[in-house]
Amino acid sequence: MEVKNFAIAIHGGAGTVSKSSMSKWKERAYKEVLRRAVTVGSIILQKGGRALDAVMEAVMIMEDSSLFNAGRGSVFTADGKHEMDAAIMNGRNLKAGSVAGVTDVKNPILLARMVMKKSKHVLLTGEGALNFAKEQDLELKPKEYFFDQSRYNQWLRAKEKNKVALDHDEASNNKFGTVGAVALDKKGNLAAATSTGGMVNKKYGRVGDSPIIGAGTYANNATCAVSCTGHGEYFLRYCVAHEVSSLIKYANKTLEDASELIINGVLKSAGGRGGLIAIDTLGNVAMPFNTSGMYRAYKISLEKEFISIY
Ligand code: ASP
Repeated sequence: MEVKNFAIAIHGGAGTVSKSSMSKWKERAYKEVLRRAVTVGSIILQKGGRALDAVMEAVMIMEDSSLFNAGRGSVFTADGKHEMDAAIMNGRNLKAGSVAGVTDVKNPILLARMVMKKSKHVLLTGEGALNFAKEQDLELKPKEYFFDQSRYNQWLRAKEKNKVALDHDEASNNKFGTVGAVALDKKGNLAAATSTGGMVNKKYGRVGDSPIIGAGTYANNATCAVSCTGHGEYFLRYCVAHEVSSLIKYANKTLEDASELIINGVLKSAGGRGGLIAIDTLGNVAMPFNTSGMYRAYKISLEKEFISIY
C-alpha cells in the first residue's frame, strides 16, 4: 500500500524551559539542529526511504550535537560517568532493538539498530552491549568526547543537593534533552527511536524508560509510533508508549486524544513530568507535554516544517 502522506516528528527533550532563561543565539542553535534532523529524516521519506532509516538518521544528528542529552551531550551519572540508553522499533513487524547503560559508543541508536538487525535479542546492557558494538565495528569515542563543562557543572550542582534531575530542568545552563523521532513512510510503515543519557546524577546502573519497549519507545503499524521524554520512572510504571497505542487500538481514541489523555491526564495526576511525540498511520502528529517546554519539530509531506520549544 502506498500512502500519500509521509511524515516525521522529533523531540529534543521536555522540562522547565522558559523563554527568559534562553538567549537568542542559544534558541537559534537548538532550532537549527532540530531543523537539520527533521529535514534529513523528511528527505529520506520523500525519496521513498524507510521510516526506520528516517528516525535513525534524525536521532543520530541530535546524538552528535552536544546540545542534547544523548550521545555526545549525555549527562553525568552519580559516578561522574556517562551511561547511555537507546531503542528503535519497526512498526511493520514489531521488531525492536535497544541498549542500556552503554559507554563509549558514539551513536547508541546505531547500536540499538544493530541489536535488532544482527542479534537474536532485543535488549543488551552495559559491557555486553559495548562488546557487541566492538564486534559490529561501531565507532567508539574517548571519554573527552563526552565531556562538556556545563554538564559537568550541572552534575556538581545536582550532586551537592543530592538530587536526581531531568537534564532539561537545569534552566541555568540551557542544556536540554533526551532525543527521539517517529516517522511514517510512503509505504505506510511506522518507526520510533529514542536515545538518552538519562537523568542527571542517576545511580550507577539505573535504566530509564527510553530503551524499554512499550515504556519510552513503541511502534506498531496497526496504531502509531511513540517516543517519550521525561521522568523515566513514571513512564516505565505507566507503560506510556504502549498505553497510547492501546487506547487507539482498544478504545478507538484518536492519536491526539490518546496522547493527551496519558500525558496531561494520567501522568500529570500521578506527578510524572514530561511529554511525547506520536504519529499515526495517516500521518497525524501529536506532541503533548505537561512541562513548560519541549524541544520539538515535525514535517508532514512537503509542507513547511514546524519547530517549537515552549
Ligand atoms: N526519560 C529519560 C530517562 O528517564 C530522561 C529524559 O527524557 O530526559 O532516562
